[in-house]
Amino acid sequence: MRELWSDCIRGLEPYTPGEQPAVDRLIKLNTNENPYPPSPAVLEALQRHANADLRRYPDPEGKALKQAIAQVHGLDSANVFLGNGSDEVLAHTFLALLKHELPILFPDVTYSFYPVYCALYGIRFEAVPLDDAFRVRIADYARPNGGVVLANPNAPTGIAIGLDDIRALLAQCPRSVVVVDEAYVDFGAQSALALVKEFPNLLVVHTLSKSRSLAGLRVAYAVGDPGLIQALSLVKDCFNSYPLDRLALAGGEAAIRDTHYFDLTRYQVIESRDGLADELIALGFEVLPSKANFLFVRHPSRDARTLHQQLRERRILVRHFAKPRIEQFLRISVGTPDECRELVRAMRDLLASPAP
Ligand code: PMP
Repeated sequence: MRELWSDCIRGLEPYTPGEQPAVDRLIKLNTNENPYPPSPAVLEALQRHANADLRRYPDPEGKALKQAIAQVHGLDSANVFLGNGSDEVLAHTFLALLKHELPILFPDVTYSFYPVYCALYGIRFEAVPLDDAFRVRIADYARPNGGVVLANPNAPTGIAIGLDDIRALLAQCPRSVVVVDEAYVDFGAQSALALVKEFPNLLVVHTLSKSRSLAGLRVAYAVGDPGLIQALSLVKDCFNSYPLDRLALAGGEAAIRDTHYFDLTRYQVIESRDGLADELIALGFEVLPSKANFLFVRHPSRDARTLHQQLRERRILVRHFAKPRIEQFLRISVGTPDECRELVRAMRDLLASPAP
C-alpha cells in the first residue's frame, strides 16, 4: 500500500502525544492538562451556542475572539492570529516564517514537535544544546540563522528565561523571526507579549489548553507585528478557512474574558506545583526549577522508566521520554492537591521498597 503514498511523507516520524486512556479512575498527570474545569462562563457560552446556527459556517476570521484577545493584551486585532490549538499555530508559523536557506535554531531539549514540523516542511534546523543545568544560553544563538524557536518556559524542563534574555535574543537576530512558544507562561514566567510593539520580528504563541483548562476545545493564538500575522493568515487561508468552529470561538472568547477565574485557577496550580516540588525534593528527587504546570524530576538511585511503569501499575500516569539527556527524568503534571498527595504517597511507597 505504501507505494500509493506521496514520496515526501514516507520517512516522516510523527510527534507522539501523551496517552489519553479510556480507563476511569486514573490519576492523569501525563499531558499537562489543567486539573481544574474550564470557567463556568465557558460552559455557559458553549451551551448557548449549541443551537441551530451550527448549520452555518463559523466566522472564518474569528473577529470577536481576536478582539477579546487584543483587548486583554492591550493590542490591536491585526496583531492576532487564531488557530486550532498551538500545534496548528506553530505548524503554520514554521511554513510561513521559518523556511529559509539558513537553518533555524532551537534547543536540543525542547518541545519535540519542532523537529517534526521541520521534517514535514523540509526546514533545516540546528539543535542548540542546553547547558548542564538544562538552561538556555542566549549567547549560543548569536550565529546566522533562519529563525529561532524557544518555548518559554521550556518543555519538558519547565525552566523559564527572563525578558532580558528574550530582548537580547531579539536584538541579536534582527533579521530573523524569533518565535516564543508561551504555552505555559501563565504559571509564573514573564511574557514576551510586552515586547511585541517594540520588535517586529517577534511572534508570541499562546494556547487556551493549559492555563484556561481548554485542551479539549482546541483554541490558540499568535501575537505579533501585523506583517507576520499576514503571512500566517495566508497559509491558513490556503489550508482551512474555518479552523475554529462556532463552539471553539464562543468558548474561547468566554475564557479570555473571565480573567478572575483564570487568575484563581492558575494561582492554585502554582501553589500546588511549589508544594509538590518541596515534597519530591524531600524524597530525594532532583527537581528542575519549574515555572510551568509540571515538574521535571529525576531520582539519583531509581530508573525513570521503571518508576514510570510502577506508577502506572498504581493507576498514576506521568510522562517519560526515551530521549538523549532526559531518559532518567519523569515529567509530572501538577494535579489537584488530592492528586499531588496520591502521587507523593505512591512515590514514598516505591522508594521505601528495594528497586526491582
Ligand atoms: N507548545 C508546547 C511547548 C507544548 O508543550 C504543547 C502541548 N503539547 C503545545 C505547544 C501544544 O498545545 P496545544 O496544541 O494544545 O495548544
